[in-house]
Amino acid sequence: MSLRPILIWPDVRLSTVCAPIDAITPEIRTLAADMLETMYAAPGRGLAAPQVGVLQRIFVMDVAWKDGAPEPVVCINPAVVAQGDVHETNAEGCLSIPGVSADVSRPGEVRMTWTDIDGMRHDETLTGFAAICAQHELDHLDGVVTLDRVDVAQRDEILAQVKALI
Ligand code: ZN
Repeated sequence: MSLRPILIWPDVRLSTVCAPIDAITPEIRTLAADMLETMYAAPGRGLAAPQVGVLQRIFVMDVAWKDGAPEPVVCINPAVVAQGDVHETNAEGCLSIPGVSADVSRPGEVRMTWTDIDGMRHDETLTGFAAICAQHELDHLDGVVTLDRVDVAQRDEILAQVKALI
């Protein structure tokens, strides 16, 4: 396993729609292992393939490890198939937009399907932070970042913060 460099917004690869994965090849297994290692080292709780420059539909997340034992999840070709009516707004950070956060509104509950690294299909309802994290990472696979999910006023404010940090 090895650490991979995390791309920083506005790298164009972070605004690109990623391609579905046809088969779980050794390269995909290595990618997943590298992404988990990179996520833990960052440290973060989610990382999507385009953030390490790979434009394929895979993300990793672990919403537990900062508070207890690790629970790594690898999601290949994930899709939201249903969502709750109630939205919640959370301050979301992103490893590709370091040092700032955006108040993003999303459904607090989603039903998501995906294939794991062993080829098992999953169909699960996610709530709480897992629901928010999964939607954030899935957005990356569609070339969408938090800045694309906020209004113009908040976007301008965050961009000013980003400029001040550079
Ligand atoms: Zn992100």
